[in-house]
Amino acid sequence: MTTSHIPKGSMCTSCSRGSSACADLRFHSMQPIQRYQDGTTAVKCVNHQAADATTPPMCLSCGARNHPLPDGSLPCGH
Ligand SMILES: [Zn+2]
Repeated sequence: MTTSHIPKGSMCTSCSRGSSACADLRFHSMQPIQRYQDGTTAVKCVNHQAADATTPPMCLSCGARNHPLPDGSLPCGH
């Protein structure tokens, strides 16, 4: 079985929890938001915890927290 349900990416980048907090969540039981062409379903993560304004968004590639540069890229290079 492949991963067919994932939290919507924009939610993860603004979430104060790390990806380790998401490892045991059952995304297939959460509310679908969007269906991607590859069959993956983005869901509304019930465990989403909005980070406060002082916490930089988390890079989904390396987990580093850094504020995006003016051109939209991340200082960590992702
Ligand atoms: Zn990164």
